[in-house]
Amino acid sequence: MILQSDDDARPVVLPLTAMSSGHSFPNVDELIANNADYADGWTSIADVRPDRQLCVIACMDSRMDIFSILGLQNGEAHIIRNAGGAVTDDAIRSVCLSQRSLGTREIVLLHHTRCGLLNLNEDDFKADLEQELGVRPSWALEGFTDPYRDVQQSMRRLQMSPFVLHTNHITGFVYDVDTGLLHKVELD
Ligand SMILES: [Zn+2]
Repeated sequence: MILQSDDDARPVVLPLTAMSSGHSFPNVDELIANNADYADGWTSIADVRPDRQLCVIACMDSRMDIFSILGLQNGEAHIIRNAGGAVTDDAIRSVCLSQRSLGTREIVLLHHTRCGLLNLNEDDFKADLEQELGVRPSWALEGFTDPYRDVQQSMRRLQMSPFVLHTNHITGFVYDVDTGLLHKVELD
């Protein structure tokens, strides 16, 4: 299915399954109404520092409710999310602030099965962009073929970064989106 985005003439290609929800689109009016309900009986948390001194780096996948998966409550952890849960320069930026200014001392990585980045060919993806837009992105897509190896890669990047001060407690997991279970990843 080819959709035309509202703000420009560039086609956006989506698989048919992405359009099967019963929600109205765009969502923002419903989100505002949801927020009014959320703010009813609201209790604020005074301390900006995460109560568990924990920083989680996770994939942005919509099937992963990080707080529920780990049994966390609001105010207990930083959650850094991007495509794949990759340890990019920007993820390092957030971890650096999290540790130096906000007191976190433990990092948990959450990658997962059936990720959108699984088996995605970086060269093909960039070539498509270049052909369509005339510009090849400077960033890495961070595609991978094995989520377990990808977690190991991310753990090593954290350990090797000069900006990550506290590396004694880094644990990586692959989350199975079909069972809800975490599988711990050891470094070779
Ligand atoms: Zn993913």
